Amino acid sequence: MALMEIVKWPNPILDSPGDPVTNFGDDLKRLVSDMFETMYSAPGVGLAAVQVGVPKRLFVMDCSAGKDPDQRIVMINPEVLHVGGEQNGEEGCLSFPGIFFNVQRNLRAIVRAHDVNGQEFELDGTELTARCMLHETDHCDGIVFLDKMTPLKREIVKRRIKKLQKAGEWPA
Ligand SMILES: [Zn+2]
Repeated sequence: MALMEIVKWPNPILDSPGDPVTNFGDDLKRLVSDMFETMYSAPGVGLAAVQVGVPKRLFVMDCSAGKDPDQRIVMINPEVLHVGGEQNGEEGCLSFPGIFFNVQRNLRAIVRAHDVNGQEFELDGTELTARCMLHETDHCDGIVFLDKMTPLKREIVKRRIKKLQKAGEWPA
């Protein structure tokens, strides 16, 4: 297993949709295992392949942050089937370290995906699970949480990042 480097915004790889995964072999299993290790070490509750510079449609997540093995989930070629309700809450992203902001999301989401063996499954989640699945599926589509904020909040975050860039504390 190996730690991977997490790509920071505004790296353009974060704006491009990933390619569908077609090969469910050992390379994929190694990638998933490295992504889990990278996510836990960050630490974070979700990490998409594009965030480690791999332009593919998959992500790993664990809303229990390693406490509950049942919540260790990998979703490959995720597809949102249904969303409902609304929730408003603070959200972070490993590509925006230290930035936490309110983002409105659906309260519930049903997402269909493949597991590492290529087996199809559906996950029906609410609250943090729904928020995480939607945030990470967005990454697979080349969308970052900044795109989901109101224009005013987006400007505040961009200004904060600009200041950090000037101070040399954020990649330009
Ligand atoms: Zn993210």
